[in-house]
Amino acid sequence: MTSGNGTNQRRITILGSTGSIGTNTLDVVQHLGGRDAFEVMALTGNGNVALLAEQARATGARLAVTADDNHYASLKDALSGTGIAVASGRSGLIEAADMDAGWVMAAIVGNAGLAPTLAAARRGADIALANKECLVSAGPLFIEAVRRGGGRLLPVDSEHNAIFQVLEEHQRHAVERIVLTASGGPFRKSTLAEMEKVTADTARAHPNWSMGLKISIDSASMFNKALEMIEAKHLFDLDPEQIEVIVHPQSVIHSMVAYSDGSVLAQLGCPDMRTAIGYALSHPRRCNLPVERLDFAKLSRLDFEAPDEVRFPALRLARLAMQRGGTQGAVLNGAKETALEAFIEGRTGFLKMADIVETVMDALCGLPAPRSMEDVFSADEKARQLAAGLI
Ligand code: NDP
Repeated sequence: MTSGNGTNQRRITILGSTGSIGTNTLDVVQHLGGRDAFEVMALTGNGNVALLAEQARATGARLAVTADDNHYASLKDALSGTGIAVASGRSGLIEAADMDAGWVMAAIVGNAGLAPTLAAARRGADIALANKECLVSAGPLFIEAVRRGGGRLLPVDSEHNAIFQVLEEHQRHAVERIVLTASGGPFRKSTLAEMEKVTADTARAHPNWSMGLKISIDSASMFNKALEMIEAKHLFDLDPEQIEVIVHPQSVIHSMVAYSDGSVLAQLGCPDMRTAIGYALSHPRRCNLPVERLDFAKLSRLDFEAPDEVRFPALRLARLAMQRGGTQGAVLNGAKETALEAFIEGRTGFLKMADIVETVMDALCGLPAPRSMEDVFSADEKARQLAAGLI
């Protein structure tokens, strides 16, 4: 979709522009031509109004949205006289998603990203999907919405983007399994006793990637990898047994596809999300980006080890959710988000998060399979309430 002002600019929208993925996306957009090449239709944020207003001014966005109604007045104030429209709240996010952009970056963190991403998918936009919760909570319904809308689903999560790069469409029948790599996070070598005492400050220090607070802590507990397993199942239509996780501390191999003839295809690169974002923005072409290049001589070695599911039970819970199906993905995520908030606020322990999630999953495993998004939201809400009661 090109610009309505008669130029060849591509119209894009960034949901979650003020976050780690959002700012990296704007950086890629700038490298690929900025305002000469792209017309930014909408940008959204939540609490960081100053950055959102700065981004909207710099890109000339048509609409800026804060998800928090309490920030509407200050955003309006910050953009007064610019001609940039301002909105807020859930309806504002949907308004942003409904703007006439052909490519939408879905980078709102957590379940809050589901409704606006779905709205963009339904109207047929290409979805660059960073928000993994869309697939974890609503997998088949979300995939169906994209299919009906007619847009493309372009994975941005580095592991899924890697698989997307090496999974040859005409050889899907020959895929034996996919191998998701995991850095192992800051507690790869910690004992259970040490992990019992960790705080949000130590858990957020990811060894290789620079990311938002919640995904960094999810990486430390391996709940991030658990979400990615479920995400991969829906994205690539795999059985749970076809999804393997391997700890690879250097984060150079971003993931692999193993084929039935014994070949394994991998995508490698320095850990920089701009590569995956650039691929999703330029697909099916490749673009030029100023990211660090791999230097194999300096790298010298790549290590691998099996994940420890005793210290990181999240992986086992992901498999359980996939086997049970139905609303278990939404339940796992809803309970996890509630436990994570409590951990960040110091109200629960690091290891306790998985206990809470498992208890809630067991309690809600009898819910019927979701037939609509309302069923998904209802399962998510029930999971949050139960989890809150366990904290
Ligand atoms: P950040 O926390 O850095 O940014 C999140 C974005 O969502 C911000 O724009 C934030 O606004 C906005 N936001 C926060 N809460 C709400 C809400 N309730 N409603 C609407 N918007 C909200 O996250 P990341 O950029 O790290 O991650 C974004 C998504 O991408 C996540 O789902 C994550 O799992 C996924 N992802 C991230 C990767 C990474 O490298 N960071 C890698 C792969 C996937 P504000 O800043 O104004 O508060």
